[in-house]
Amino acid sequence: MSYRVTLIPGDGIGPEITAATVRCLAATGVRFDWEIFEAGSEFVNRTGRPDPLPGELLDAISRNHLALKGPLTTPIGTGFRSVNVALRQALDLFACVRPCKNYPGIPSRYQNIDIVIFRENTEDLYAGIEFQSGTEAFGEINGLVAGYNHRWLRHNSAVGIKPISEFSSRRIVRFAFDYAERLRRRKVSIIHKAEVMRLSDGLFLEAARQVARDYPEVQYSDLPIDNICDQLVREPEYFDILVLSNLFGDIISDLCAGLIGGLGVAPGANIGTRAVVFEPTHGSAPDIAGQDKANPTAQILCGVMLLRHLGEIAAGDRLENALKAVLQAGIHLTADIHPEKAKAVGTAAFADAVMAALF
Ligand code: ATP
Repeated sequence: MSYRVTLIPGDGIGPEITAATVRCLAATGVRFDWEIFEAGSEFVNRTGRPDPLPGELLDAISRNHLALKGPLTTPIGTGFRSVNVALRQALDLFACVRPCKNYPGIPSRYQNIDIVIFRENTEDLYAGIEFQSGTEAFGEINGLVAGYNHRWLRHNSAVGIKPISEFSSRRIVRFAFDYAERLRRRKVSIIHKAEVMRLSDGLFLEAARQVARDYPEVQYSDLPIDNICDQLVREPEYFDILVLSNLFGDIISDLCAGLIGGLGVAPGANIGTRAVVFEPTHGSAPDIAGQDKANPTAQILCGVMLLRHLGEIAAGDRLENALKAVLQAGIHLTADIHPEKAKAVGTAAFADAVMAALF
């Protein structure tokens, strides 16, 4: 039997880390029938196709319910919307789950970190609702702001809308608490800036407090975003499960990746009711793309998450242990985590070492 899974290698370093991961997954003996798709701005530029997120790709993920995805580049400040964000919205992948824990052998300033981030994936300033001055819509918004808030937006402004709904807030918080209960985690911390964004973050916080009452066995705390930045840098081992709205979740994910040794080692899963898309926390890293330099650890750990999601627990454990063995041996490491850069190996050689360590 083989599992049919949609595969989006992505661009930048995506194809290299994804190829490495597919080889490692094959070496576990679990069989996959990959349905491969391209997407993103580079795909549009290269092929002239009109849509960076083809309908047939969305159909395939909906049909297979599962995808393994590499990063897709989002050009900064152009008219292009993030395809990564659009995909999460189109499939209502409302929870982004990002485990961050130390692995022996990966250099880090901290030890004993075992944090799981739950980022709300569909709302907030990430919803992509923005308006430019000079447009009719901007004029109408400016009129509304003047009417209700008694002040005008400055000339030549742009406006972004931060939607936070009770439904989505309760959904992500409940998802995190269910996970905490199921996996016997000790504490859930809700992160917000409700003292300033009193209505939007205030709603998120109030919804969280209500949901928390249904889980008396799990410890609860809530903290302002600025406060947790300070605490995460000083004593990250104190934290367990963090629940954040979309933008704060994006930023704290990278911060936590830095705590455990960098973006190259932080996996993730975007989870909805109809599909799960596994993808690393990092982006397409164009500075090292196509050079066999990228660390595939995050994407291989996405493969471990995929195996466990499929119920292939033994294969998932074997792959994670093989990865741990390679990291701990400290010989076949990529440049981002090798203590002596000159002795670092490439993406493909790293994957070879992981496969050799599988028994
Ligand atoms: P995005 O906006 O899509 O999140 P970004 O440009 O902000 O992307 P990343 O692409 O995630 O950021 O990476 C930032 C830097 O971290 C890269 O330029 C690269 O040097 C390093 N990096 C990221 N991922 C890896 C990896 N897998 N292996 C090695 N280095 C990496």
